[in-house]
Amino acid sequence: MDLLPAEIIRQKRDGKEIPTQVLRDFILGFAGDLITDYQMAAFMMAVYFRGMSDRETKDLVQAIIDSGHHLLWSGHPRFLVDKHSTGGIGDKTSMIVGPLVAAAGLSVPMMAGRGLGHTGGTLDKLESIPGFSVNLSLKKFEEQVLDLGLAFIGQSHELCPADKKLYALRDVTGTVESLPLVCGSILSKKLAEGIQGLVLDVKFGSGAFFKSYDSALELGKALKKVGEGFGPKITVCLSNMDQPLGRFAGNSLEIFECLEILSGKSAVNSQGVDLYQDTRDLSIHLAAEMLLTSGKYKSQAEAAKRASEILSSGQALEKWKQVCLRQGGFLNNLPKAEFQHPVVSTASGFISRFNTEKIGYLNIKLGAGRTRLEDSLDLSSGIEFHLKVGHAVKTGDPLVTLHGSDLAKLKSLEDEVRSLISISPSAVPQPDLIRSILR
Ligand code: URA
Repeated sequence: MDLLPAEIIRQKRDGKEIPTQVLRDFILGFAGDLITDYQMAAFMMAVYFRGMSDRETKDLVQAIIDSGHHLLWSGHPRFLVDKHSTGGIGDKTSMIVGPLVAAAGLSVPMMAGRGLGHTGGTLDKLESIPGFSVNLSLKKFEEQVLDLGLAFIGQSHELCPADKKLYALRDVTGTVESLPLVCGSILSKKLAEGIQGLVLDVKFGSGAFFKSYDSALELGKALKKVGEGFGPKITVCLSNMDQPLGRFAGNSLEIFECLEILSGKSAVNSQGVDLYQDTRDLSIHLAAEMLLTSGKYKSQAEAAKRASEILSSGQALEKWKQVCLRQGGFLNNLPKAEFQHPVVSTASGFISRFNTEKIGYLNIKLGAGRTRLEDSLDLSSGIEFHLKVGHAVKTGDPLVTLHGSDLAKLKSLEDEVRSLISISPSAVPQPDLIRSILR
């Protein structure tokens, strides 16, 4: 490396473009432990404030991919597709969409991440299934995708090792909400998978990293533009994260919700509304978009019909069971928290707003996420939501139930969680789940 790390950090701090080879050496140097965590943290903070040009963002994606292997799949018999979300609370669709699309005859080689900032991570959720391993060798990953059409893996020393380190460091250094860093992280993982189609669930709203619709749209457009420059067809769905998705947020609780939905079950609340409805609807929508990228369906409606049929027929559940078994997971032994503490409403009216980001941080306090790199998780802790935006509520009605292993802690968080859910005296409309799609 011709430039000292401090010079590169200073250049970015001062808003200069980093040349291709310099950026590449810096990222690969970090993957190889030549650049320290504190140097990379300073660099990422500079990127957070100064941004990156399209050329730098593309170079970042390429360097992260090149820190490991790039899967090629020559002669693979099926269309290869994946989906990824920019992150949310209760955002668990991968465990429904993956098996559903694989059951429809496509291949989904899914590389996922851990909790990031206030949001939950697919890898942590999967690891709440006793025995489930996300540490597959590349060979085993490829074999499983060939045999079952679906496998889950984490970033490793073989696949996107630079993202494994960058991701963990961003999580604890306040550098998640950066458009080029999100592009680098998501696109490198997905492009290294060697897929032909990709559906990105770009969240906006109080629980998203990019909160306004316009900033999420800007992120969606950048992901599509930079990603398609590498070859695959990319569809972006802009979906609402102004309230937690579904009934549960928390690792094993979310796996339970997915299993319920895959099994055709519902969870009807005091308003007669199925609390699984939004998770189910979004999953079917994303799965349909994945099917569409294969070019085998004439319309979204046709693909959505097929996705619904596969879900209700039990084929997706069967696929999920096969995948869990193959990756060592025992689905019938999901951990349950020792204590459940209901938090009731102290007002009457209509649920008008969730402070979804703060709900995510509260979930971390319950043990469902990390505050330091080395933290281990309480995989059965989390939050159960009983009402959604627009639902009527009376004083004394349960708003949420906190799940965890420390009853005193659950009780101590009662007022805080209540303060994160607003109640209005007048009726409030229910928000749309998906605002727009970029195909
Ligand atoms: N998901 C990722 O993999 N990376 C991000 O930066 C955000 C969401």
